Amino acid sequence: MAKARVGLYEVKGETLQRTHRSCPKCGPGTFLAEHKDRRSCGRCGYSESKAAPAAKGKAAKSAA
Ligand SMILES: [Zn+2]
Repeated sequence: MAKARVGLYEVKGETLQRTHRSCPKCGPGTFLAEHKDRRSCGRCGYSESKAAPAAKGKAAKSAA
């Protein structure tokens, strides 16, 4: 049986990312709330932006 693997993970590129990140302050037990362009922790108030490290289509050309 070939069923689609639907789970807790989401493959992005070559890295495996959890769909929900855990809070770096509270530890792996506390997850960050997903917002449109950021994530935040409802426990300690930590927040981070969802800026993609490698934006596709936006090549950083250093043309001096
Ligand atoms: Zn937290």
